Amino acid sequence: AKEQGKNRFLTFETQMHEQLLNRLDEEARLRDAVRRGELRLHLQPVVGVPAGQMAGAEALVRWQDPERGLRMPGSFIPLAEETGVIVDIDRWVLFEACRAVKRWQDDDPATAPAWVSVNLSAAHLEVPDLTDQVAYALSSTGLSAQCLVLELTETVMMRDLAVTSVRLEELRELGVKIAIDDFGTGYSSLGYLRDIPVDVLKIDRSFIDGMAGNGRQQELVNAVIQLGHTLGLRVVAEGIEDASQLSLLTVMGCKFAQGYHLGRPEPAEALISRLSTPSLR
Ligand code: C2E
Ligand code: CA
Ligand code: CA
Ligand code: CA
Repeated sequence: AKEQGKNRFLTFETQMHEQLLNRLDEEARLRDAVRRGELRLHLQPVVGVPAGQMAGAEALVRWQDPERGLRMPGSFIPLAEETGVIVDIDRWVLFEACRAVKRWQDDDPATAPAWVSVNLSAAHLEVPDLTDQVAYALSSTGLSAQCLVLELTETVMMRDLAVTSVRLEELRELGVKIAIDDFGTGYSSLGYLRDIPVDVLKIDRSFIDGMAGNGRQQELVNAVIQLGHTLGLRVVAEGIEDASQLSLLTVMGCKFAQGYHLGRPEPAEALISRLSTPSLR
């Protein structure tokens, strides 16, 4: 029995060792992914309500992993955040998103989105040259600052309110817009809406999800929309998956919506060639 116990322990230790090696290997491969050109830019439309035309687009990253195929952010962003690789990934996405949308606006202004939004992770707010990175992405691609939205979650913004407000003030001086992402899932203290300069409020999918058949939830979403409008913010409802959700939001006066029902994220080139005027292709 004693021998067995020892073997079990060795097996456990070997497993731990293997897990650690896998993690280190994955980390190294993730680090190289940016350099090797394995990241892919996907765009998801944000549409105007009720007209249904594309108003903006959100940049969402994918990893074309040579070993495991096309990977969603949920499978690598957490590791990227732990290891700091996220800063490189977000810088890549920022630049590529600005470049793609600027080209689209030049080639076919009639179908191009008026803005592109890019997600920033917590680590990024602490990078001292974030504002320089954003200024560089704009000046080198030629995208107008008003066409760029930076999305941050409430939780990220609340980490250090003093740092956050200074950073966001700097960024807004460039002319870019700031969005609160996943609104309602984080801190739930509304005080920061007074202290932090933001332009866009994105209502989290979880609020939209339970709306049908739940009067209370509908009232809550309605109240958030009115609050946002009262504060002069652009309000975007996220995760619209069916027509009934869209019609409820229309009645509530929500002006922008995003979700599978309105358009799934797809490779930037695919979206552009699908929507651009055929004669220009
Ligand atoms: P997010 O910023 O809240 O992005 C919206 C997510 O919801 C996307 O998932 C999108 O595909 C998904 N989605 C959109 N419409 C619907 C819908 O109708 N139903 C459902 N069920 N889902 C919908 P995705 O692309 O897997 O991204 C997940 C998260 O990963 C993002 O959440 C964001 O937090 C993060 N992420 C994605 N790209 C980047 C990036 O470039 N940088 C950073 N830092 N984070 C990123
Ligand atoms: Ca987002
Ligand atoms: Ca979101
Ligand atoms: Ca999210």
